[in-house]
Amino acid sequence: MKDKSNPQLTERAFISLERALQHSHCCICRLVRETEEQHIWFLLYEHAGDPPLRRRFDDASGFCHYHGHLAARILLEREMMSESAMARFYETAVMTYREALQQAIGAKRNPRAAFRGGKTPGVPSASLCMACESSRHAVAGNIAALLRILGDEGHRLDYVKSDGLCNPHLALAVQKADADAGRFLLGDHERRMEKLQNRLSELLRKQAFDSHETPTAAELASWADAVWRFTGVEWKELLVRREDAKTLDRPGHKGRQVLSPSMGES
Ligand SMILES: [Zn+2]
Ligand SMILES: [Zn+2]
Repeated sequence: MKDKSNPQLTERAFISLERALQHSHCCICRLVRETEEQHIWFLLYEHAGDPPLRRRFDDASGFCHYHGHLAARILLEREMMSESAMARFYETAVMTYREALQQAIGAKRNPRAAFRGGKTPGVPSASLCMACESSRHAVAGNIAALLRILGDEGHRLDYVKSDGLCNPHLALAVQKADADAGRFLLGDHERRMEKLQNRLSELLRKQAFDSHETPTAAELASWADAVWRFTGVEWKELLVRREDAKTLDRPGHKGRQVLSPSMGES
């Protein structure tokens, strides 16, 4: 199932997407997060002593806020991690930051000039963060894979049965889709949003002071579903573990099927 028109679309990309469609929430958010976790783990495990990568890390002032805290969790929870991997990366980042501080201290002009305009020393930037860059590639690749499989009726049915996309990833997918796939995605999304609006309205009605009806589990979850629909999905726990890394998405491996209670209802 390799797409010759796009060399980035490997068989594994399609298998990953089929697996992600069986999980709850936005399939692109899930795949991007898995890529981020794998990228950071590999960076810490394999590249703490790689000078060119370390220079890029220093230039970016380390990870952005989101990926810095994700990296900390990976270091604490994943296998084969040691504090020294992160310390090695940040040792030179701190050194680079101190050089900027010392220049600001030694400058004759008002020190605030060194921290104004352009790249502010020591403030991580999402445009330079290495994990953000990996994330942008993962978004583009997985949306391309999704649009490719939506050319097939069977996969459209899988998509309809899944939780679909968050609104930001829907917008990106529609921008890249041909007219037919775009119409399919928009029509499907409108039906999901109509159901979400109904669940929100029912929750409000049943929680009104003069109502004695009990909201359903799906209605109680509606506000949280609205949050991830509009902003993308956030996970508290790591998605990739050692066993996952070894077995997931190998051709022939079916993956786990984890369905959330609200699946198919938003
Ligand atoms: Zn998403
Ligand atoms: Zn980042």
